[in-house]
Amino acid sequence: MSLIRVPKGTRDIWGEEIYLWHKVEEVVRSVAYSFQYEEIRTPIFESTELFARGVGEVTDIVQKEMYTFPDKGGRSLTLRPEGTAPIMRAYLEHGLNISNPRVKWFYMGPMFRYERPQAGRMRQFHQFGFEAIGFPQAACDAEIILIAWLVSKKLGLENLSLEINNLGCNKCRDEYVKTLQDFLKGEGDNLCANCKIRAEKNPLRVLDCKEETCQKVIHSPAFPLVQDFLCEECREHQDDLMEILRELDISFSINPYLVRGLDYYTRTAFEIKTGELGAQDAVAGGGRYDNLSSALGGPPVPGVGFAAGMERMILLLAKKYDPSSLKKQSLFYLAPLDVSGEKALLKLASFLGDRTIPFYLEFGDKRVKYHLKKAQKMGINTVIIAGKEEKERGELVWKDMVSGEQISMKEEELLAKLLEERKKC
Ligand SMILES: [Zn+2]
Ligand SMILES: [Zn+2]
Repeated sequence: MSLIRVPKGTRDIWGEEIYLWHKVEEVVRSVAYSFQYEEIRTPIFESTELFARGVGEVTDIVQKEMYTFPDKGGRSLTLRPEGTAPIMRAYLEHGLNISNPRVKWFYMGPMFRYERPQAGRMRQFHQFGFEAIGFPQAACDAEIILIAWLVSKKLGLENLSLEINNLGCNKCRDEYVKTLQDFLKGEGDNLCANCKIRAEKNPLRVLDCKEETCQKVIHSPAFPLVQDFLCEECREHQDDLMEILRELDISFSINPYLVRGLDYYTRTAFEIKTGELGAQDAVAGGGRYDNLSSALGGPPVPGVGFAAGMERMILLLAKKYDPSSLKKQSLFYLAPLDVSGEKALLKLASFLGDRTIPFYLEFGDKRVKYHLKKAQKMGINTVIIAGKEEKERGELVWKDMVSGEQISMKEEELLAKLLEERKKC
């Protein structure tokens, strides 16, 4: 029989790499705690309709990349491709728009997109994100940007830069979209096949196109830019945001081509990039989504948030940290010489475990030499040895790997010494 392997586009996260994940998770949690964003955990799968409505029918995610399947009851379910639509679903489902309209949430976990796997792009990937729902203020956009900035900084990412744009509101966006549509119609065969369809159904998507022909069109001088169509309120919103960012000492630039891949964005869109991997690479992106609630059948509710890919962060962190340096080192190696040694050391394990003191317990009837070699390899300085002979004397053996000193002692004495030793670390 051939061995079973993980599905294409997925992988096991294990070994020393896991300490890098813990590091990212720790930083995310600590910033969330500081800003008092509470964690929310939504299901891994949702009704397909949630993403069709909340992400947009004419997006690559919904058209090509979703893991959609019928369950045994004939419902169409989808593994979540992103975190914001589920969070707005939860907000509306729990009636928070009425009982507690202003919430600050964060999330962390796996997302799923059926993409061609390549370096750094997996079909099961991980994101964390922060969402502030119920706040229309530009200052709240600034808080979200500040959080994304701080998390990146606390992870040690350097050469950070921020790009912002404003996608307009329900008042001014229609005129821009119409102008854009007319312009794209005139470009006809200069657009790729996909963009010809996008130009009709969702012309903003054209700005995301990587095809060379479309890039040429987008960067032609006559191409209409959303910044020239903003209404007074949108302009003011952007001015407020820029003023706060300057006060926060977060340097930024306006990128009028930045639209983000999802449908529900209004006003602020932003991306944080790092120059660490050579080219400027986005590490976090987000924006305002005042139309998302309505798209899901709810009342108008303002919201703003960002998401960041954890695989990308891990890749960057791996260049900075030796993951083994992030591992919590075992203090004690418990070395049984036989079955009676195992029993004595399990008693000791219970004592240490009760006090959350890290140790490594071996099993079997290996000789002392084996244990000392292994303890040395693991970088553990104290080895506790127990076997039949020690049991007959009612003692255990303490071996200090640094000084080479070896002392046989009664259990109570040894427990006291263990606690003493822990204090030193
Ligand atoms: Zn507007
Ligand atoms: Zn195109």
